[in-house]
Amino acid sequence: MKSTQRILVIDDESDVSEFVSDAAQAMGLRCTATTDAKTFLDALTSDTTLILLDLIMPEMDGVELLRVLGERKCKAGIVLMSGVGKRTLESAEQLTTALGLTIVGHLQKPFRLAQLEEVLERHAMPEALPIVRQAPEIVIPKAELQRAIEHDEFVLYYQPQIEIATGRAVGLEALVRWQHPERGLIFPDYFIGRLEEFELIDELGWIIAERGLREVSQFANGDGNVPNLSLNESVHSLHDLNFPDRFVSLVEKHGVPPENVTIEITESGLIKELSNTLDILTRLRMKRVKLSIDDFGTGFAMMQQLKNIPATELKIDKSFVLEMNGNDRNRIMVQKTIELGHELGMQVMAEGVETQEQFDLLRRYGCDGAQGYLFSRPIPPGEMVNWLKQYASRPVHAA
Ligand code: C2E
Ligand code: CA
Ligand code: CA
Repeated sequence: MKSTQRILVIDDESDVSEFVSDAAQAMGLRCTATTDAKTFLDALTSDTTLILLDLIMPEMDGVELLRVLGERKCKAGIVLMSGVGKRTLESAEQLTTALGLTIVGHLQKPFRLAQLEEVLERHAMPEALPIVRQAPEIVIPKAELQRAIEHDEFVLYYQPQIEIATGRAVGLEALVRWQHPERGLIFPDYFIGRLEEFELIDELGWIIAERGLREVSQFANGDGNVPNLSLNESVHSLHDLNFPDRFVSLVEKHGVPPENVTIEITESGLIKELSNTLDILTRLRMKRVKLSIDDFGTGFAMMQQLKNIPATELKIDKSFVLEMNGNDRNRIMVQKTIELGHELGMQVMAEGVETQEQFDLLRRYGCDGAQGYLFSRPIPPGEMVNWLKQYASRPVHAA
C-alpha cells in the first residue's frame, strides 16, 4: 500500500525540495519531497491535495510531468516553481489549464520562506480544503442514461454564430442538454463522457442530428434563408464507414442543403483517431458537409496533420479567447491561429467571445466568425426564434 500524502514537492535541486518539505513539516503538514520523477509519480495518490513542481529539471522536464498529471486526471492544486521568465510561466500555465489541471499559484525562484508559507497556508492547511472547487462529480449509471435515451429526455439549446465582417447571425451551434425529470437541466460535461464510455454516444449523436435538422427550419429569416447548423460529433461516432451516407440521407430527408451543416469534432479527438477517421471526413466533405476542428489550440495538432484534415473551419478554443485581452500569449495564439487557418484555406471561428474588446480585436485580426455570451448564451429553440428576430433588426456589434 502506498502511504497517503497531502503535499508533493519535486525539484531537481535538493536544497529547494528540502526547504519546502521542512517548511511544510514545521507547519504540521504531511509532505513528500523528491528530486526524481519516478518517486514523485509513485507517491501521487488521490489524497494529494497540493503539488509544488519545478518547471525546469534536467531528467524529465516539468512540462512533461504536467502532461502525465493531466493524463492521470490529477485533482490536486498545482504551484509552479521556477526561475524562468513571465512568458514561459504563462505558457506553462496555459498548458496546465488546457490539460484540465488546476493552478493555484506560482513561486518565482529564489523565493523566501515567508512567500512559501503563504502559499502553503492558503492552499494546504486543512481549512483551505478542498482546493479544487469543482462541481462534485455526478456518476450517472448506465441504466439511467439508457432510460433517458428511450424517454427522449435530451433537448437542444442553440447559440448564434456571427459573421464578423457583416455582423449578421449566419449560423447556430446546437448544444445538448439533458432535461432530467428530477434533477433538472444537466449540462453535457456531465454525461457525454459517460455515454462514450458505455458506447451509447452514437445513438445520442443520431438523436441530436435528427432533432437539430428538424428544428433548424424554424430559424429561417424573412427572406427564407436558414442559418448554418453546427452539430458536435464525438470522434467515436466517426468510425463507421456508413456514417457519411447515413448522415447525408438524414440531412436530405429534412430538406437541408448539406453545405448548410457543419460537423464539429474536437482537435484532441481528431488527432488521436486521425488514421481511423480521415476517409470518413473526406467522404463527408465530398458530400459537401462542412467540418470544423473544435477546441483548437488544446489538442497539439502538428502542421502536417492539419494539412491532411479536410476541415473547412478552425474553431479557436474559448480558453484563449477569454484571456485574450490580459494575456500576451493568448493574444498571439489567437492571432496566429487566424493566420494559420487562412493559410490552410479554412474559415476561423472564435468561441467564448464575452466582451466588445475581444470582438474588436478579433475583427482587427481578420477572424471570420464569433460566438459567445456577448451575443447570446445557448438558449432553447423558441427563445432563439425571438432572439434572431430582434437581432436582425439591430445587429449591435456590426462594424
Ligand atoms: P463546445 O463544443 O466547445 O461548446 C462550447 C461551450 O462553451 C458550451 O458549453 C457553451 O455553452 C460554452 N460557451 C459558449 N459561449 C461562451 C462564452 O462566451 N463564455 C463561456 N465561458 N462559455 C461559453 P456546453 O453547452 O456546456 O457544452 C460543453 C461541451 O459539451 C461542448 O463544448 C461539446 O464538446 C460537448 N457537447 C455539447 N453538445 C454536444 C453534442 O450534441 N454532442 C457531443 N458529442 N458533444 C456535445
Ligand atoms: Ca462545439
Ligand atoms: Ca470549443
